[in-house]
Amino acid sequence: MKILVLNSGSSSLKYQLFDMTDESVLAKGLVERIGLEGSLLTHRPANKEKQVINTDIPDHTTAIQLVLDALTNPDYGVISSMDEIGAVGHRIVHGGSVFTETTIINDEVVAEIEKLIPLAPLHNPPGIAGIKACRSILPNVPQVAVFDTAFHQSMPEVSYIYGLPYEYFEKYGIRRYGFHGTSHRYVSHRAAEILGEPLEDLKMITCHLGNGSSIAAIDKGKVMDTTMGFTPLEGLMMGARSGNVDPAIISFIMEKENLTIKEVDELLNKKSGFLGVSGVSSDLRNVEEAASEGNYRAQLAIDMFYQKIVRFIGAFVAEINGIDVLVFTAGIGENSPQMREAVCDKLEFLCLFIDKEKNKFRGEEREISRPGSKVKVFVIPTNEELMIARDTATLVK
Ligand code: ADP
Repeated sequence: MKILVLNSGSSSLKYQLFDMTDESVLAKGLVERIGLEGSLLTHRPANKEKQVINTDIPDHTTAIQLVLDALTNPDYGVISSMDEIGAVGHRIVHGGSVFTETTIINDEVVAEIEKLIPLAPLHNPPGIAGIKACRSILPNVPQVAVFDTAFHQSMPEVSYIYGLPYEYFEKYGIRRYGFHGTSHRYVSHRAAEILGEPLEDLKMITCHLGNGSSIAAIDKGKVMDTTMGFTPLEGLMMGARSGNVDPAIISFIMEKENLTIKEVDELLNKKSGFLGVSGVSSDLRNVEEAASEGNYRAQLAIDMFYQKIVRFIGAFVAEINGIDVLVFTAGIGENSPQMREAVCDKLEFLCLFIDKEKNKFRGEEREISRPGSKVKVFVIPTNEELMIARDTATLVK
């Protein structure tokens, strides 16, 4: 079966077409600047040359039609007709408390995702636009929604209720949801597979460290706690997001700097983290470069990031009462040997020991723990699209 995986953003659309007989990617690509001037599609078919198509793309329906045209194009397409697409898997950011797993899309599911817009005002609307466009163009093809929040729904109440008046949880759904769930699920399953042990027998901490970063504590295959919360702002310090701060700081800064709600929101989401502390960049590569040239604040930002990772791993090991496996994934997790070494050095008290030579690499799947280490440490490149394709194939079968 061939499965189309879609990840719709407000002005972008990423896609991958999988052949599930061998899980190969037949083509992938990106539509950019939907609804804006200068919109374009970059289509990358496997074994054929990349195509860039510059054309007016006013909305998600046009974007998806364009993707389907590219996939079926006689020259640079990879399938002969749209009928070859057996199902479509959509990445949806917020599934609230309603969606605890991947779900076949029908009218009610669309209505439920729409009801969740207040919880993800920037992310769910483009997801819905993608679903609606696909349902109108491919009315007979099953559509599946895979939620970023779903894997974390196994968290117990003690992990997800905030120390706020309980009525806000009941009235507005203010609780911790967690994000990057598809990534945490993919790497935890993959780690168990590499080890050849059932997930149900393992205690794992998975670290998704990219522009946005989160850590999950997984016991017997179930998330027990995670660092992101009501929004992806909570937890670790990130590229441009503050992560945890004393909440009283927010009203204090608002008053001192005369900021509106929108401005303080932007401050916490776009001007903080590596960028805010270092003053250099939200991209760790640039911060590392500045630090190596002696930039004090750049080094401080890096040290703070490492320390927060260690802090949460320590807390989560205590919460799930042990650890068998530690996984690093995403842009920084996969590509920063310095980060992995610095973090693992602080975890030797857990009898976790890495092979520092084996750790010196970027972007591939590898075990980096030493033979005597009680805790197995893996670097596993994440693959959310493949997870979505697998879920979609399983559900429509
Ligand atoms: P997103 O959350 O946007 O998907 P990614 O998972 O792509 O982000 O991660 C982006 C982060 O990964 C950036 O901070 C970038 O600096 C970092 N990164 C990518 N490659 C490297 C590298 N070679 N060394 C250090 N950091 C890297």
